[in-house]
Parts: sequence; structure tokens; C-alpha cells
Amino acid sequence: MAELRAEKIMQIRLSSRVQDLEISPTAAVLQEAKRLRRQGIDVIDFGPGEPDFATPENIKEAAGNAIRENFTKYTEVAGILPLKQALADKYKKDWGAQYQTDEIIVCAGGKQALFNVALALFEEGDEVVVPAPYWVTFPEQIRLTGARPVFVEVPEKERFILRAEMVEPVLTERTRAVIVNSPNNPTGAVIPKEEICRLVQLAQSRNLLLISDETYEYFSYQTDRAFSASALWSETRSHVVVVSAVSKTYSMTGWRIGYALGPKAIISAAANIQSHSTSNPVSISQRAALEALMGNQSSVQRMKAEYRNRRDFAYAELIKIPGVRCDLPDGAFYLFPNVRRYLHDAVPDSVALAKYLLSEAAVTVVPGSAFGAEGYIRISYATSLEMLGKGIHRMRQALEKLG
Ligand code: PLP
Repeated sequence: MAELRAEKIMQIRLSSRVQDLEISPTAAVLQEAKRLRRQGIDVIDFGPGEPDFATPENIKEAAGNAIRENFTKYTEVAGILPLKQALADKYKKDWGAQYQTDEIIVCAGGKQALFNVALALFEEGDEVVVPAPYWVTFPEQIRLTGARPVFVEVPEKERFILRAEMVEPVLTERTRAVIVNSPNNPTGAVIPKEEICRLVQLAQSRNLLLISDETYEYFSYQTDRAFSASALWSETRSHVVVVSAVSKTYSMTGWRIGYALGPKAIISAAANIQSHSTSNPVSISQRAALEALMGNQSSVQRMKAEYRNRRDFAYAELIKIPGVRCDLPDGAFYLFPNVRRYLHDAVPDSVALAKYLLSEAAVTVVPGSAFGAEGYIRISYATSLEMLGKGIHRMRQALEKLG
């Protein structure tokens, strides 16, 4: 006991790598909403970037079969061959790209795919261009590698659509890559084909990589599918890495399957990193993802049609609120309205406004500052029409009180 009493409390010194790392602000909002719910408050949640649909039955069935067949052991680190082949076939059929299976890695979600690629490519002294508004994870992953994110503002007046000419002025000899995300989280903007071509050409001419996050590829409401940078495979393949996932498309966020396609050197380095971190993605989820890719696709079209209805409805309701400015976004499942009109002394910024909406209206939104865009909030419409109607009505009442 005496020894125990004498023991000193150790001062825990965290690495400088994590000292500036913040818990994802979107997760923080989710946690607060859960806390209020536990107190019995009827919170309407426009926070999560997650489909509210159940994973389609055929996919669940495939996972059940994998378990029954004891497909429950380690697999190849970079993913099982049939899944990588299914991805190669998909990109060939959809975009004419001819990826070999050793140019594809399957990871625990799109997030891990992006992180593996970042770790394989970036280090101290490097710069990586991140268009803002950005998905919160991009800059944090870049910083974790020791590199520096360099932000490029994509203005609201351009409907948040990134153009190559916005990127060009910030390129230096230290720039290693540009990260592009279309359809975009948080703005819903979809970059048109011609502009993706210009961005890929810019990357090629400056000997950089274009990392194209296409996680929301299917949720593009003007076209069948958002244009993929992989379509330029034949001329520019050594300058493009495409990252995507089954997470949003098939409502499989919890299954953790994403992937990257790109030059073999990058993909095998990413696999090496994965071999020393998580090893293979979950064997059962890989079989489920295989069914997602190969099986009946009607569930995707059903979900897409439903998102489009919700988008149209939520948008129409939202722009009725005096002073709230918003364009109708072409993709993903987010609205990103300008709420500057409501920011003043008592509620000075988007974080304060999100807190105000949670306490006054019991509605969760994500502050724009989390995405590098002060003066905006993100509303996810991956929820029912009923919730959208009720929540936006409550928001309107709360905002009107602010005057
Ligand atoms: N990329 C973007 C833009 C996202 O919004 C997300 C998830 O929210 C991801 C990638 C990663 O998705 P996951 O890791 O769940 O596959």
C-alpha cells in the first residue's frame, strides 16, 4: 500500500502529431444530440452524413452466407480478388478505365483509403491543395502526415463548383496533390465533366496527383452519375487516384468498405501501410460489398429518387426562411445555406448558431466553420420528409426570434 501511495501520477505526454487534432466536429454534434435525446428531448437531427435507409436485403443475405460458410478469417491485405476484380470491371464498364487488380486496394471505408494514400504520399515540407468548403477529414489527415493543407476558397457565387483556374495560383514546387470531392460534402456541388478534365490536365501538366474523392458518385441529380476522374485513365492514369466506397451508395456506412484505384506504386505502398495497421478489411463486409457491386442495383435508384424528393422539398422549405440564401445543390445529400443574416453579437458565428438551434429548436445542424466556411450551416437531408418539414419549421421559428 505504501508503495502504491508513493506512486507518482505519470504526466502523459501526447505526441505533437495529435495535440492539435480535434475530435471531428460532426461527431461532436452527433454526441450532443444523443445526450439531449437521452434526456427525453425530441431532437431532429440534420447532422449526420449517413443514409437513413437500411442496407438492402441482398447485401445482408450475402454477409449472412459469408458467416455461415466460415468466411471469417484473414483475407489478402488489400482485399479479396473477386472484389477487386468487380471494382476493375465496374470502372471499365462505367468509365472505360482499365485498372488491373494490383492497382486497387480495398480498405475499411473511404476514410482509410484516403488516409493510406496520404501516408503513402505526403510528408513534412509537402503541400496539398484542399478546396474549401472541405470535408473535415481532409486537412486533418494531411496534417497527420506532417504535410500542410493549402486551402483554396470555392465561392458561393460560383455555386461552390471548383474550377482548375482557382487551384493554379496556389501551386508551388512543394505541392504534391490536389484533393477534389465531387459530389461534395458539405455543399452538394457536382463538378461538371469539362472541369474535371481541366483539373486532371492541370495535375498532369504540373506533375501532381489529383486525388478524386467520389464517395457520393451515384447521388448526382442532374445526371445518371457524377463524372469520374477515372474516365481519363488512358491519358492521365499516373496522375490520378480515385477513392470511393460502398458506404453511402448502398447505405453501408457501418460495414466499413471503401477503396482506392491508382498507380501501382501508390496502391502497393498503401497496402503495405494497411498490412501494419488494420490488415484486411472485414472479410464478411468484403463479401457483402461484392454482392453490392454485382447484385441488383435497383435499391440505389430507389434511394436516389428518395433523396431527390427530399432535396427538393427541404430546399423549397428552407428558402422560405427570410434571409437564408441557398442554391439548389446537384448532388450528395446536403444543403449548405448561407445564414450570415442571423449572425450578430448574441450569435456571432456558425458554431454559436448551431448551438442556438440545438437549444432553441432542438434541431442539429453542423456549423460551416467545421468545413472551413464561416457563415454557413450544413443540413443533411438523409432523413424523412416528415422530419425535414418539422425541423425546418422549428428552425424558422428559432431564427425569426433572432430577428
Ligand atoms: N469522403 C467524403 C467526402 C465523405 O463525406 C465520407 C464520409 O462521410 C467519406 C469519404 C468516407 O466514408 P467512409 O469512410 O464511411 O466510407
